[in-house]
Amino acid sequence: MGAATTLLEIHDVRRTFPKPGGDELLVLDGVNLTLHEGEIVGLLGRSGSGKSTLLRLIAGLAKPQGGNLTYLGQSIDGPASGVAMVFQSFALFPWLTVLENVQLGLEALHLPEKEIRTRALEAIDLIGLDGYESAYPRELSGGMRQRVGFARALVVHPNILLMDEPFSALDVLTAENLRTDLIDLWSEKKLPIKGIILVTHNIEEAVQMCDRVLLFSSNPGRITSDIKIDIPRPRERTSTAFEDYVDRIYVEMTARRVERQPRQAPVTGPNLDTPLTHVSSGLIAGLIEAVAAPPYNGKADLPDIASDLQLEIDELFPVTEALQLLRLGDVEGGDIKLTHMGKRFADADTNERKEIFSRALMSCVPLAAHIRRVLDERANHAAPRRRFIDELEDHMTEEAAEQTLRAVISWARFAELFSYDKETEMFSLENPT
Ligand code: ADP
Ligand code: MG
Repeated sequence: MGAATTLLEIHDVRRTFPKPGGDELLVLDGVNLTLHEGEIVGLLGRSGSGKSTLLRLIAGLAKPQGGNLTYLGQSIDGPASGVAMVFQSFALFPWLTVLENVQLGLEALHLPEKEIRTRALEAIDLIGLDGYESAYPRELSGGMRQRVGFARALVVHPNILLMDEPFSALDVLTAENLRTDLIDLWSEKKLPIKGIILVTHNIEEAVQMCDRVLLFSSNPGRITSDIKIDIPRPRERTSTAFEDYVDRIYVEMTARRVERQPRQAPVTGPNLDTPLTHVSSGLIAGLIEAVAAPPYNGKADLPDIASDLQLEIDELFPVTEALQLLRLGDVEGGDIKLTHMGKRFADADTNERKEIFSRALMSCVPLAAHIRRVLDERANHAAPRRRFIDELEDHMTEEAAEQTLRAVISWARFAELFSYDKETEMFSLENPT
């Protein structure tokens, strides 16, 4: 493999976006990546970590502020004809037939009409759409429509196929069928492409499809691990080797998150610089109950509990982080374990749960304690939202500040620590005891 052609080289790429206030949002920082001929490389990260942004840079649809990208040794400067993309949404033209939609992929190449037709029919055949040439998108199932999306990308015989969460809008079985078909075609060397970059937030999908998986961190997006998946194809999801990789990735992705959690939240001073992700108290309670119950009895393997509760990492990681923040659970070595308080919460009735939650908020979430203190100190026990948003925005983006406040409002409502009126945008101690 050492001598394989380098299709794509990304060096020290940095990308920012302007924020409304004039600051910059750093989305990608120090990103390095190499794609060799014959490889499927996965980019695995949570939503918002900058994966689509990186794909757009590779596709030549946007430019980095720093670093460089080369495709076959040439600096990427606008869309290259050898790079094609498949998106999550099907993006088909409803007024065109399957054949016409696929032919569109070739428009830019200015080929003779006959060749356009031949190549489009080949791609349709290859991807399992034979017989549907004259159907319209509305007559097709979601899975078939995504096959048209693939055919439209394959028809140009691209050197690099970029896929941005191409299976995530499909139901489980349809997605699995399409993945298997693609991998089979790839293994049999029937696809007219040389390398693939697959963006996903699904750990199992990454292990199933990729030769290497790059883990992407958030804020800013950075590649934190490059994991070679050394399992021959076809890969069995239930094999020990497969499960070991899945476990290892869970461990790496959660370990890094834990490091960034403030272990000892200071009880003095507001310390409002940690953005929170909004997770409903119902989901928090649901996860605690599931971990407390058999067969887990207080400690669960994250991949197991994720599959039991059908949670994707975009849901699972925020809720496990909320558990850690509130010191109701701990994550270590890919397991989630309830703390003493977490177990008490699981056994408690609604009123006791509210009490436990309220105490957790006061001692572990400085912003919640801060808002409560301000309300306690004011004669009318009320304060406008603006006051806290302004404080938060000194330390984080507007978006993060909104999210953080939303999280605290919903947790405080469940805990009856304070209340918030959306209409008047006022915090108060009205309803809580
Ligand atoms: P992912 O694909 O991993 O979910 P994205 O690349 O779509 O992540 O987005 C990463 C971050 O960049 C997000 O915070 C998003 O809001 C921001 N972002 C993406 N595109 C733009 C843009 N055109 N202008 C401003 N911010 C953007
Ligand atoms: Mg995306």
